[in-house]
Amino acid sequence: MSHGKLYTGRRVCRDRQINPDAEVWVTLDDGRQYVLPHIIQHSPTGMEWGYGGSGPADLALSLLVDFGLRQEVALSFYQDFKWAKIARLPATEWTLSRREIGDWLAARLIWFSDSPDAGPACICSLCGLPIEDDESTNATPPLRMWSQDGKQEARFHQSCGLPLLEGAI
Ligand SMILES: [Zn+2]
Repeated sequence: MSHGKLYTGRRVCRDRQINPDAEVWVTLDDGRQYVLPHIIQHSPTGMEWGYGGSGPADLALSLLVDFGLRQEVALSFYQDFKWAKIARLPATEWTLSRREIGDWLAARLIWFSDSPDAGPACICSLCGLPIEDDESTNATPPLRMWSQDGKQEARFHQSCGLPLLEGAI
């Protein structure tokens, strides 16, 4: 995992185009860049930011997946992330660090003192491996996270979630 990813959104005026395109780039530690893959859920025409619509929803989802959340988990949390972060980005240009996304996730993580028990899916939201079957973490309960409406839950191995809590991701 790269620790220093930086996400940059900007508007690019192409030749003879009246409306600038919204672009989101990812910059890695070593300076390499790539265009953030757009995961299309609501807005086939592109990602957006600075308000709470469908383009911003797609940006929120795409960022959470690029961060490393499994897509089915990101689908449970991207609307919360949209309202908390994406809707508040400046309309023209912005940067968001991988750390800032991690901090947002970490603020929602909860230590739970019970056993992993039979949840909807005892699959780690970051590494995708089963939580119950991992003997190295079986002795310690997973970290858990709920969506704003309390209806969606994600679980993390402690070993996967701790770097989030420690700001080391
Ligand atoms: Zn894990």
